Amino acid sequence: TETLSQKPKWIRVKLPTGKNYRELRTLVDKYKLNTICQSGSCPNMGECWGEGTATFMILGNICTRSCGFCGVKTGKPLDVNWDEPEKVARSIKLMKIKHAVFTSVDRDDLKDMGSILWAETVNAVRRISPGTTMETLIPDFQGIHKHLDRMIEVAPEVISHNMETVKRLTREVRIQAKYERSLEVLKYLKEAGQRRTKTGLMLGLGEEKDEVFETIEDIRKANVDVITIGQYLQPTKKHLPVKKFITPEEFNEFGDFARQLGFRHVESSPLVRSSYHAEKHIH
Ligand code: SF4
Ligand code: SF4
Repeated sequence: TETLSQKPKWIRVKLPTGKNYRELRTLVDKYKLNTICQSGSCPNMGECWGEGTATFMILGNICTRSCGFCGVKTGKPLDVNWDEPEKVARSIKLMKIKHAVFTSVDRDDLKDMGSILWAETVNAVRRISPGTTMETLIPDFQGIHKHLDRMIEVAPEVISHNMETVKRLTREVRIQAKYERSLEVLKYLKEAGQRRTKTGLMLGLGEEKDEVFETIEDIRKANVDVITIGQYLQPTKKHLPVKKFITPEEFNEFGDFARQLGFRHVESSPLVRSSYHAEKHIH
């Protein structure tokens, strides 16, 4: 039988290839751009970059939070770089990115929680690379409406916020976050007029099957349009261990359940990351 230190055969990383991938790779190296795709060694790089989709991290690389699954450093973040929106937007134009996903560290140290720079980033991309569509994978901004409203105002095609795990494990997996607060954020975004909302779950952290079904239901009740479900993989030995490799069949079961509940888009399989196939989620 397979031990958990051995990855099952469905978790093989596909080596990135293709002309678009190679061209992007050259630009990213030349201009020293930061993508999550590379820093997280994402298994889908060949496919995403080939299709002109990439994920960018804004607001620095030191986070005020310390989620047990996340490879980002925790500490006192650097000052906000107000030139960043313009710089990122120029990179996106240069890379000819068709669909950009943004994410950030959490900035609980800032009065606006980083929401002003978030909104300026969306505006800069609209101005400098008007053909690029966007998904903003935002922190919870501690659930404060006026920060969330800034995002609604600039209206990226998709606003996402990840639930990551089931209710019972939220404390262990994302210590400074709250299950109900994240649900409220998603619900509010939709109520306030955001066209598409989206969330993601990672499985294999010790959750029971029933808890997954329950979580999918809670998310649908918050009127979320898109859900992604993938396997948790441990970034380093210091992070939360993988408790279980969920089989592709089980992922299908969760996916079918979500589809029956009426989500607009559902991605559920082992290698799914929240930005996987993101370009399809704008419609
Ligand atoms: Fe990048 Fe997300 Fe695609 Fe991975 S799934 S390559 S992080 S865009
Ligand atoms: Fe990582 Fe986000 Fe948690 Fe910060 S808030 S530790 S970036 S998952």
